[in-house]
Amino acid sequence: MTNLPAEFAELGLSEPLLKAIAEMGYETPSDIQREAIPHILQGKDILGLAQTGTGKTAAFALPLLQRIDVNNRTPQLLVLAPTRELALQVSEAFQTFARYLGDFHVLPVYGGQGMDLQLKRLKRGVHVVVGTPGRIQDHMRRGTLQLDNVHSFVLDEADEMLNMGFQEEVEYILEQVPENRQVALFSATMPEGIRRVTQKFLRDPVHVRVKSKTKTVDNIEQLFWKVSGVNKLDAIHRFLDAEEYEGVIVFVRTRNDTLELAEKLLSRGFTAAALNGDIQQNQRQRIVEQLKSGQLDIVVATDVAARGIDVSRVTHVINYDIPTDPEAYVHRIGRTGRAGRSGKAILFVSPREMRMLQVIERTTGSKVKQINLPSRLDIRSLRIERFKKNVLETIEREEHKLIRGIVEEIAEESGFDIFDIAGALAHLAQKETPLMLGEEFTEEPEDRYEQRDRSFGENRGREKRDRDREPRESRDRGPRRRSEGMAPYKIAVGKNDGAMPGEILGAILNETGMSRDEVGSIAIQRDFSLVELPADLSNAQLADMKKIRVRGKQLLIEKWKGEADFRRERDDRPARKVVIRKRRNEDY
Ligand code: AMP
Repeated sequence: MTNLPAEFAELGLSEPLLKAIAEMGYETPSDIQREAIPHILQGKDILGLAQTGTGKTAAFALPLLQRIDVNNRTPQLLVLAPTRELALQVSEAFQTFARYLGDFHVLPVYGGQGMDLQLKRLKRGVHVVVGTPGRIQDHMRRGTLQLDNVHSFVLDEADEMLNMGFQEEVEYILEQVPENRQVALFSATMPEGIRRVTQKFLRDPVHVRVKSKTKTVDNIEQLFWKVSGVNKLDAIHRFLDAEEYEGVIVFVRTRNDTLELAEKLLSRGFTAAALNGDIQQNQRQRIVEQLKSGQLDIVVATDVAARGIDVSRVTHVINYDIPTDPEAYVHRIGRTGRAGRSGKAILFVSPREMRMLQVIERTTGSKVKQINLPSRLDIRSLRIERFKKNVLETIEREEHKLIRGIVEEIAEESGFDIFDIAGALAHLAQKETPLMLGEEFTEEPEDRYEQRDRSFGENRGREKRDRDREPRESRDRGPRRRSEGMAPYKIAVGKNDGAMPGEILGAILNETGMSRDEVGSIAIQRDFSLVELPADLSNAQLADMKKIRVRGKQLLIEKWKGEADFRRERDDRPARKVVIRKRRNEDY
């Protein structure tokens, strides 16, 4: 039976919420939760400077859920999120936290999903609506979203919403919700646009932010790997294969994650154990002793459980999940580099969490260096190097002397070459770590795995470089080079409507649920624009997309008639061809 998390209870949260939190395996509140929850419970407006990874979702969801009357099945809380993925993620979090609140309903609404389904569920009654600005505005205009009982309102990743061109929608929505509502705004940065929204719509907000004082230490090498392509489990496997370690502490967020990851590592042949707040003191001591003595190499822990571990054998800390605040980061990495030894701290950061990394760097005053995932070839050469070193050290320490006679006997009796015999012994010595691992890759210039995993952004970069290398003539006259499987489409908004590429991109992504790599270049013309999209969009998809609005105008999208036309119909001035930057919150 898990203990109810005491520190959460001190924040004033109710029993059903605490029970859900305990089940999720949260042990202590994160900084932002500790700061924001009591104020939100008191009904105050909140301005939170917090990025993904800080636990901001729980920081607003838990206290606002406490204010929901489940017996009244009308929308009481509205959450705006910039993307469909985030809207879904936040909805899921609400549903999980509300597990013991009774008959609770949360509805994600976003473009791309049929209106009918959303209307049906809205009619049936929901307590919380989480949606993208475009679609929420749409429902408001149609009168399908009842606002009379909305008493709280959240803007999540507000800066991202403005970046995507949703300022108008956000303001429209805020103007419609009842006067007496409570507003919580979370944003990773505070650009002018956010300041304006804050001044206009928040009343005497309490400012909360992730803070830190602690500095990191110099004898720890700090590295990060940006999660992409390979999942984190495969990645940690590779790092553990490539790194020369003695003891490792792997940090994850929750108790449940410690159990799950330790089990997975065990099944992959590592000696690993979980350490979390549920584990009894004597069992905990046993695990630490085993780590000290070398019976155990890997401990998968939560922040709380690993606090104060002082084992000089710990050569590595792996932050499998990014910590929720810089202070926790400093505590975590301080588990290595003990007793004057040096240590290595490797942090896994998903693209959405890059801002958190910047905060860590800024507040700890240290630079975390980016590293690549070791390729199979890297691992192979590392293993061979390690093997050679072991062989030489064994000879230097004269540990082979006793057994040398047997080798001589084999040579005499068999007549085989001494290198063949040594080769056979090396083969036997490999055990579960084959030295020639990944041999299949040697014929290829690059690791196949890496090649497949190369992200869209990099491919595009390469494509551009290739284009840049083409002779100027062919570039100017020849057909414009297009990404494979993509085709140009015409949309009815252009420069005269004030449309910006970011808005068009944002609207398409949100309203269709397409991923970022399904939208290519956007060329803004005077009265219309051209957008590269998958060539095989169905009529039904196009019909849905026609209705998407940018700057109040429907896109009325239609297929463009091919490359030559695409160029000819341009404005007299060179069209602004914009390759949109990769979105921070891209879905991997
Ligand atoms: P967020 O910043 O809201 O996107 O949260 C990032 C991750 O941290 C999510 O996976 C949450 O489930 C997790 N999380 C949030 N609060 C806590 C906490 N107090 N303890 C452990 N994990 C948490």
